[in-house]
Amino acid sequence: MPDQLRVTVWNEGRHEKKNAQIAKLYPDGMHAAIAAYLQACGDLDVRTATLDEPDHGLGGDVLPTTGVLIWWGHMAHHEVKDAIVDKVCARVLDGMGLVVLHSGHYSKPFRKLMGTSCSLKWREAGEKERLWVVEPGHPIVQGLGEYIDIPHEEMYGERFDIPEPDALVLISWFAGGEVFRSGCCFRRNKGKIFYFRPGHESYPTYHHQGVLKIIANAVRWAAPVPGPDVFFGNFKPLEKLETA
Ligand code: ZN
Repeated sequence: MPDQLRVTVWNEGRHEKKNAQIAKLYPDGMHAAIAAYLQACGDLDVRTATLDEPDHGLGGDVLPTTGVLIWWGHMAHHEVKDAIVDKVCARVLDGMGLVVLHSGHYSKPFRKLMGTSCSLKWREAGEKERLWVVEPGHPIVQGLGEYIDIPHEEMYGERFDIPEPDALVLISWFAGGEVFRSGCCFRRNKGKIFYFRPGHESYPTYHHQGVLKIIANAVRWAAPVPGPDVFFGNFKPLEKLETA
């Protein structure tokens, strides 16, 4: 359907192939679990793409026709070709939305668009995570309560070395005591970027209805807006200028 927002769910897809426990949680990959939820929403046209496909599944008309790209990567960030990274970033600047999940904080496109190290503290102890909504009027938390709990997750802790977000929507608290800016909105030229923390591969986080709802909300928030074209450089005056 041409008037539906086109979403491409990109996943590295390696953990699911290498680890039987993870494959059990996500038999068709984490991208398939996320894509199934988004497709069932009814208003989105959802595709998937993975690292091991030619051009990482992002060649041809895939990026030009994608309205919002979701990105999950971890163990193979370095295998993502720089030429594809450049194309992803150029599309974001031209208005494509980008939703970066969990360990995607270290992905090449996110680091390039942020311009910082995007480093953080981490610990894998299966502890409880509570995500607090701190901007209750924001479209990304539409339909949520004050917080959501995830029974078992990897911990990410501050400091998270990112530029100050344009909007901070969610903050996580972890049972071990750390806090983390878990839902961060950024704008880069015409494009919107949302970083969303949950989603360690060893836990069933992408079966959690609250997490999936936030991802779906973020996709709609990040959708391209048919605004004016952008021009840079020398520009003729619109009005007659008085010359001295
Ligand atoms: Zn992780």
